[in-house]
Amino acid sequence: MEKKMEWKTDCNTCRTHLADLLLDESYVTEHPEMAEHMATCAECRTELEDLQATVALLGEWTAPEPSPYFDVKLRARLREAQALEPEGLWSRIRSFMLFSTGRRLRPALAGALVVAVVLGGGGTFAGLYTRTGAVAVQASPTVNDLKVLDNNAQALQQMDQLLDSSDDSSAPPTT
Ligand SMILES: [Zn+2]
Repeated sequence: MEKKMEWKTDCNTCRTHLADLLLDESYVTEHPEMAEHMATCAECRTELEDLQATVALLGEWTAPEPSPYFDVKLRARLREAQALEPEGLWSRIRSFMLFSTGRRLRPALAGALVVAVVLGGGGTFAGLYTRTGAVAVQASPTVNDLKVLDNNAQALQQMDQLLDSSDDSSAPPTT
């Protein structure tokens, strides 16, 4: 288009546009000089035919079947990974906090942690409820909430320390 003016189609130009010639049918009609060159230059024609043959082969190629044990092995690996999940998740969060530079991520992290701690507390509460019966229920929600708040505060404080020590470039000195 922009370089259409009066360039001569030599072999170099022709070779760089082999893919266009092969894949874009309108290219030849827009660049008749290419077809002209192809008609006169046996080498470029051979090059194009080779490429055509390769593409045709790729079209016929089918991926080999996986071995019969592939699925079994994959499922075993998945089960292993799932068994490791709690530790993996925690270490992922930990390394995320350690290596991320993000002060901006802190609110999101704190929120996630609060959710996690509250969910944990709820689970404990449900356990208490079924074990101790109705008498204890009056007191335990409050106790639980207080414990959750306390845990939260401690966790957030620890996270603050972690974040401060890891991104000291932007943080004011804390000691
Ligand atoms: Zn040529």
